[in-house]
This record gives sequence, structure tokens and C-alpha cells, in this order.
Amino acid sequence: MKVTPQRTLIFEILSGLRTHPSVTAVAREVSLRSPNVSFDTVNRTLQSFVDMGILRKVVGTGNALRFDTNPLPHHHIQCVRCGTIQDIESPDLDSVPVPKFIAGRYKVLSKMMVFEVVCDECARKERIK
Ligand SMILES: [Zn+2]
Ligand SMILES: [Zn+2]
Repeated sequence: MKVTPQRTLIFEILSGLRTHPSVTAVAREVSLRSPNVSFDTVNRTLQSFVDMGILRKVVGTGNALRFDTNPLPHHHIQCVRCGTIQDIESPDLDSVPVPKFIAGRYKVLSKMMVFEVVCDECARKERIK
């Protein structure tokens, strides 16, 4: 893959984001720094980062495609209202064994747990209503 200024910029922006951004969210950040980079370029660049193993795709409850910039093994807490995804690291969760019927049938590439919650912010808004 060629290193272009756009790709470098997109990579820099991704490295600073721990919010599991959607394509739209990354494109918004990119446009603040460099307004002439198109949405399509951002989209294609993100896909190629996924192909290269730099990024992982995370599919959220709302089905909008999101990207994970954290390369280390981790788990997620996801708000079912606003879709915010937070990383958690937990040796306890890492050591939960893969069930035999899965391990016996597939080569397991990774294991990630998702805890669906209502985040503090959304809970607060709901109390106000
Ligand atoms: Zn929320
Ligand atoms: Zn994550």
C-alpha cells in the first residue's frame, strides 16, 4: 500500500480516536483537518486498513458499521440507546473458556464479549424526561 498524505492523515486521526467511530464520524474529523478529502476516499481507506489488519470492524446494535482502533485483546461495553462503545480490559473475561462445541468445530480467531447497557448519560436523560 502506498503512503499518501490522505492515508497518513486518516491513520493519525484513527490513532487518536477510542470511540469506535463510524465512517461518517471519521470523515467528519478528516474534513476538519483537510476539507478536500472526500467521504469516498475515507471509506475506501478504512476498508483497506481493515484488509491490512490495522483496523477491525465492529458491528453495533444499531447496525452502523464501526471501526475498532484498539489492536489489543479487549471487550466492550455498549450503550443500547446511543451506541457508545467503551473498551474494557479484564483478565477474568479473557480467561473464560471457549465452549467445546465451538472450539471443536472452528478455529477461533478471537473472542470478544459485549455488555449491553444504558450509559450514565442516557440514563440521566431518561430520568429527566
Ligand atoms: Zn448512551
Ligand atoms: Zn474496542
